[in-house]
Amino acid sequence: MESKYALPEGKLFIGGKWVEPLSGATFNTINPATEEVITAIALAGEQDVASAVEHARKAFEEGAWSKLSATDRGKLLTKIADAIMANVDEFAYLETIDIGKPISESRNIDVPFVAELFYYYAGWANKYHGETIPVRGNYLNYTLREPLGVVGTITPWNFPLLLATWKIAPALAMGNAVVHKPSEQSPLTSLKLAQICEEVGLPEGAFNVVTGNGRVTGNAMIRHPGIDKIAFTGGTSTGIYVMQEAAKTLKKVTLELGGKSPNIVLEDADLDSAVKGAISGIFYNKGEVCAAGSRLFVQENVHDAFLEKLVQRGKKTVVGDPLDPKTRFGPLCNRDQLEKVLSYISTGKEEGAKVVLGGGRASVGSGKGYFVEPTIFDDVTNQMKIAREEIFGPVLSAIRFKDLDDLIAQANDTIYGLAAGVWTRDVKKAHYVAKKLKAGTIWINTYNMYDPASPFGGYKQSGFGRELGMHALESYTQVKSVWVDMNL
Ligand code: NDP
Repeated sequence: MESKYALPEGKLFIGGKWVEPLSGATFNTINPATEEVITAIALAGEQDVASAVEHARKAFEEGAWSKLSATDRGKLLTKIADAIMANVDEFAYLETIDIGKPISESRNIDVPFVAELFYYYAGWANKYHGETIPVRGNYLNYTLREPLGVVGTITPWNFPLLLATWKIAPALAMGNAVVHKPSEQSPLTSLKLAQICEEVGLPEGAFNVVTGNGRVTGNAMIRHPGIDKIAFTGGTSTGIYVMQEAAKTLKKVTLELGGKSPNIVLEDADLDSAVKGAISGIFYNKGEVCAAGSRLFVQENVHDAFLEKLVQRGKKTVVGDPLDPKTRFGPLCNRDQLEKVLSYISTGKEEGAKVVLGGGRASVGSGKGYFVEPTIFDDVTNQMKIAREEIFGPVLSAIRFKDLDDLIAQANDTIYGLAAGVWTRDVKKAHYVAKKLKAGTIWINTYNMYDPASPFGGYKQSGFGRELGMHALESYTQVKSVWVDMNL
């Protein structure tokens, strides 16, 4: 790897050691801004996954990890967080070259948030526990809050380290051992996290990284009987498949899936703030955001004025080299993603929607890289394909609505239910809409707000289970009820 930040090339992190894959296979990870190979990555096969599960099981059942007190687990997570911040530039650089995320976002948002998550769950390690229960008769009844065992984490490429940490940090805090598979598109920062775990002395086998693709490595994980739970983030169709396969060994499953979130502008909104929220709601991270506000509902009597302001501001979203600190909009993550987004833009044009911004490929520097223009469609109806399917790119569909009834009906007319935004100065309307929308997160007069302490997850086909906050802890633990006869 040609970088001042070299990682062990073509190796897996299993049982606290860097090992060659038993599969003997590797694949290349590509820089989407230059289309050049960054480095070779190990492709873990079935035997590699089995080895990682075995080491994780040992760590969980009898290794040093199993003997740590909850307080000491918390201290180790704090050390991981400290070490991440001590290496923030390296993490940010690796994330940016791997997926094209602007370095300003990697450096100032994603990586610090990752550290915050480890600090947050470090605090929970010794605070989420059992209780005594006043039962009938002369019995003592108490519960033990126990870890599940071996947790398999499978994560996508859009916020590689961040979404992995949403799972890894609470899983470790509760005493589970983890086998982690990052997306084949974005393995670098997970490998760097493994280095950090090694450096701070996380007991061997507590955290393992099996790089590879979904077809081979992911499949081996969801089928392995030694994994107790799969924590998955990805597309809805993959999530359905994961659940089907995991059912065969009755694994516990949590799924964070896709979305087609409505971002709603009521007639009384502060239009300038709403414009900013609509732009960042769709163009942040090049629209490769599960909760992107990709359906923009604008009340009809402010529609024209709003769209004019929106397009003016959208023009300021300049596509650029993601390693330039001034860039706010980089290339899409990979060639498939580029083709998928361009194909949806063609579909939108064929369906009769009107392009008011962008609408094609963008050229930056040498002309290489998977760059597209930030794109806004007006005159979209909620029945069009571009309003129904998740594009997972910087394409906004503006849709008109008449009144609140019309709005709620249209906004909820989707298979998804991940998030929604509403812009209004009317506090009653704001809460009315928040209550009526079927989505796991509602943002009022803001968009894309996250905090380690606030739960996140889907309604409907956007998945189930909650990540972040104390709500995540439930799905990495199980409860044992113990009865003691106290009759003398
Ligand atoms: P995918 O569903 O294709 O992949 C997600 C993960 O699953 C990757 O690690 C992938 O591996 C793996 N995978 C793919 N096929 C299988 C399989 N057969 N068995 C086991 N694992 C498999 O999603 P993308 O990576 O394309 O991510 C984009 C999707 O993720 C979007 O739909 C987006 O909405 C959703 N998402 C949801 C979020 C949420 O919190 N709700 C957050 C972010 C994204 P590999 O890539 O190596 O092949």
